[in-house]
Amino acid sequence: MLARSIASPKPLQSRIKTLTPLTILQSPSPNFDERTRPIRLIVLHYTGMQSEQSALRILTDPAPTRSAYQDDLPRTPQNTESIPESMSRVSSHYLALQDGTIHQLVDESKRAWHAGKGFWDGETDVNSASIGIEIANGGHDFGLPEFAESQIVAVMQLVKHILQRHGLDKHHVIGHSDVAPARKPDPGEKFPWKRFAEAGLSIWPAPALEDGDQRPLFDEADQMDHGIAAVQTGLDTIGYGIPVNGRLDAHTRAVLTAFQRRFRPNKVDGMIDIETKSLVGRVASILRP
Ligand SMILES: [Zn+2]
Repeated sequence: MLARSIASPKPLQSRIKTLTPLTILQSPSPNFDERTRPIRLIVLHYTGMQSEQSALRILTDPAPTRSAYQDDLPRTPQNTESIPESMSRVSSHYLALQDGTIHQLVDESKRAWHAGKGFWDGETDVNSASIGIEIANGGHDFGLPEFAESQIVAVMQLVKHILQRHGLDKHHVIGHSDVAPARKPDPGEKFPWKRFAEAGLSIWPAPALEDGDQRPLFDEADQMDHGIAAVQTGLDTIGYGIPVNGRLDAHTRAVLTAFQRRFRPNKVDGMIDIETKSLVGRVASILRP
């Protein structure tokens, strides 16, 4: 009897036991439709709003209007009369509050509306191919505050659960800025990507001699060089949507900015220096050794 009970644990059960239980509140959003692609990606966001309760409200609002959220949205320098009153309906699968509370807004089997137009590793319908997690944080428009510790711990547990349940690759845990570099800066350079990588929830390059060497290589807009093409090829390998044209054009600088937000947060300038070039090569080599 004893021998049989020792031999009885099943591999699947022991794998599930390694996960800390997560408490998830159900706050259903009507803002979703049908997926047309299998789930491959996890896209992380910050909400970019002043109040997390407003973020929860807008992500579940079937007809959001600008006036309903004006105190929580960034002030725009543009003429406000030219901005339409109605806003796009938005949602995400999950919203993580600062105290670590997680709300589920959309069932994982459905397509939530969090990523908009974007591209990653061949995917053009990022919403269909992803699970979206909004993290309540004011972001760049509200002083780029630190993420709360309990919030980060909760998001790490949630990402771990999703990776295991869907059998996803950790290199497919990405930021909104990775899929839409010209439009979106979130989750921003304060997001602890290295910590996620150390927990097996993302990727991070091995250290190298070039680390900390931020002397410029290519730092003029629209500069052309074979070396720029080599960096673009590396960024393409990582998954970014980027043409390899050898030109430090506006889109390339936006992609470099997104890359730096993740892998070189202490200097985000969209240019190519020794460290950035080396980091692009080392991250690409993780994916295509
Ligand atoms: Zn976002």
